[in-house]
Amino acid sequence: MAIKAVRGVRDILPSETGKWQRVEGAARGVFEAYGYREIRLPIFERTELFARGIGDETDIVKKEMYTFDDRGGDSLTLRPEATASLLRAYIEHGFQVEPKPVRLYTAGPMFRYERPQAGRYRQFHQANVEALGELNPAVDAEVICMLMDFFRALGLGERLALHVNSIGDAGDRAAYIARLLEYLRPHAASLCGECQGRLGRNPLRVLDCKVPDCQPVIEKAPSILDSLSPEAAKHFESVRGYLDVMGQPYTVTPRLVRGLDYYVRTTFEVKTADLGAQDAVAGGGRYDGLIEQLDGPADPGIGFAIGMERVVLLLGEQHQSASPVVQLIPLGEEPLRRLMPVARGLRQAGVATELAYGDRKLQRELERANRSGARYAVIVGETELAAGRAVIRDLRSRQQRDEAFAELPGVLLALAREARAERA
Ligand code: AMP
Repeated sequence: MAIKAVRGVRDILPSETGKWQRVEGAARGVFEAYGYREIRLPIFERTELFARGIGDETDIVKKEMYTFDDRGGDSLTLRPEATASLLRAYIEHGFQVEPKPVRLYTAGPMFRYERPQAGRYRQFHQANVEALGELNPAVDAEVICMLMDFFRALGLGERLALHVNSIGDAGDRAAYIARLLEYLRPHAASLCGECQGRLGRNPLRVLDCKVPDCQPVIEKAPSILDSLSPEAAKHFESVRGYLDVMGQPYTVTPRLVRGLDYYVRTTFEVKTADLGAQDAVAGGGRYDGLIEQLDGPADPGIGFAIGMERVVLLLGEQHQSASPVVQLIPLGEEPLRRLMPVARGLRQAGVATELAYGDRKLQRELERANRSGARYAVIVGETELAAGRAVIRDLRSRQQRDEAFAELPGVLLALAREARAERA
């Protein structure tokens, strides 16, 4: 039996890569306009980095990591997210001496052993942004606006909702968790099995549960916003004020706590109504204290991750895979030899060109040219060569013209330029 891709891991096919390139291009363009620089990080790290950086009690570390011993006996893990790796690099390369905030972005595959379903995979891709070393709430608002500008650049602004919240500082959260448990315990019997387990491990995650039976209990839970310290409350108020100043709409959602242990103060998520259960397209928050926890300086940080698969799903069916502009069709060996340098010259000039190999019937090659979406076919057989001519066929208008073979490169370049101008 032929070997198939691993469950939850998918190929991104040529029919989709056009959309991926568009999404990646939009991310790069918007992030760089905001002054972020790209950093490229390794796919695997020491397991300890994630255990310390994400939290031993999180679903990711407990249940979802791809961890293995390498041949030297070191425990390594395929990265389940990018923040821990990025902070490791920040510390390792002494970024803290640079002017603050240090603005970095990265993108690539992440790995989590989750139950695969539409929009949820075991290898998936994120674009990640982090602003490091800055406590000012203006940076929170700037990062959030940048995220929304990315979606706007892709024409998705209208289909997404921005939710923001503050989960306070570590002390606020401890006090809130105590209040939350006090409220949840008497309702434990009406919660799903998973949530009953969470009461002991990670009660905040109950607020995130999607199981319908849990919703009535969750809806009446106390709000974390009532547990904020004056400093955390003021920070959140400033963030909201700056979002208002920038004309960025949002909804305050007190139940938005996110799955990772390291968040403090500002958290945010971008959701869509168009993808079913996997409705979070991007999420992030502040993680002051995390760099220190990884033995780095006491620099604060804030960032987000965009789920690229989900963005691509939102873009829907848009066929825009690259098609050649010119299809060269030699009929026989000598015409092939004469068209080879013509093809090379066109390609060097940046004109997408396909060259047939001279051993198939004209009819088949024309069918192929039509299917590929090429605009022009150039037909050269022995007869044309003997006369020093070539036939150029416009595959859209189906009109043919006859040109001197020697003039082909110049004529085709001019036609390709016209075709490009028409397309733009
Ligand atoms: P997180 O790192 O869990 O905060 O996730 C950030 C974003 O990554 C989410 O909002 C999703 O869009 C995306 N994401 C997380 N896990 C998966 C997955 N297993 N498959 C596809 N996308 C994911």
